Amino acid sequence: KPISQYSEQEASDAAVELRTTLNDWSRAYYTADKPVVEDHVYDENYRDLQTLENEFPSIITPDSPTQRVGGQVLPGFNKVAHDSPMLSMGDVFSKTELADFDRRLRKAYPTDFDYNVELKIDGLAISLIYEDGIFVRGATRGNGTIGEDITQNLKTISSIPLRLTKPVSIEVRGECYMPKKAFADLNVRREANGEENFANPRNAAAGSLRQLDSRVAASRQLSTWLYTLTTFDDLEVTTQAEALKTLAELGFKVNSNYHVCHTMDEVSQYIDQYQKQRDELDYGIDGIVLKVNDLALQRQMGNTVKVPRWEIAYKFPPEEAQTVIHQIEWTV
Ligand code: NAD
Repeated sequence: KPISQYSEQEASDAAVELRTTLNDWSRAYYTADKPVVEDHVYDENYRDLQTLENEFPSIITPDSPTQRVGGQVLPGFNKVAHDSPMLSMGDVFSKTELADFDRRLRKAYPTDFDYNVELKIDGLAISLIYEDGIFVRGATRGNGTIGEDITQNLKTISSIPLRLTKPVSIEVRGECYMPKKAFADLNVRREANGEENFANPRNAAAGSLRQLDSRVAASRQLSTWLYTLTTFDDLEVTTQAEALKTLAELGFKVNSNYHVCHTMDEVSQYIDQYQKQRDELDYGIDGIVLKVNDLALQRQMGNTVKVPRWEIAYKFPPEEAQTVIHQIEWTV
């Protein structure tokens, strides 16, 4: 029956079940880098939980996946406390929902603003800290507050500059990913060695970065796209598009397929263009990200407990020819 007809007890029971399932899937995905279901299945169940909790806010619990940022911190790595939390991102699955997001935001902030639209890279979030232009520390997002210190592994990635073009002290964030070709080659090698395949490039990148032996990470041909300037030192940056230019000038690898959009029609064209082109890219994308371009306005809008209010992901529909993730368990 429709959720609106649930009693509070029914909603609470359904939510308990969904949380258990989602938390189990998340553990496999984030901690073991071995998903047991495809992302769209996770997303659909997450959505159901969100709907239940929106309808009956009293049933929300602090351990609900809707209240927490994904991962866990693996033992064996030093822990890093992030200066500002590394959050998750709200997402929508249709242009109608995207238009609703835009309408709600413009109603709450009745001022003229643009969006910077970027590709949503299918990798994992990293934070890099530079002191006087020198790379000193890199970390995973972890649970958003505490990440894993993976400095040694990140130093093996050639696109991460060890020294910037200016002696600034900054934190930058972005995505570490495994190029499609590297992923395919890796699975061929693993199969030849009788090892289990990685389910997808994201899990392969995450598994590679969370290796205690940095020679393994070094062999995995990882790469990066940086997209967030978290602290500014004396860099004069007022918009996200300027931040991307500045990151490139400092020596970071920045994805150039971004676009400042004034209207939702332009956003819609951007989505269509990259949904068509995604197979031609040599890295995986699972959607696009819409970000309020003005950084001062972003700060004014702030965050919920889990996601920034000034950005949203539009996720592409699942691809037709999906790799089978749940490896068939029976043996012949
Ligand atoms: P998310 O991956 O949907 O979005 C947030 C992340 O997007 C950021 O942390 C950042 O790393 C990344 N990103 C990529 N390009 C970006 C850009 N240009 N700008 C800003 N950020 C960019 O959210 P999440 O909280 O990391 O993970 C939730 C998602 O993980 C779910 O939607 C689900 O698909 C997947 N998941 C799957 C399973 C499973 O069992 N298959 C389990 C848990 C989570």
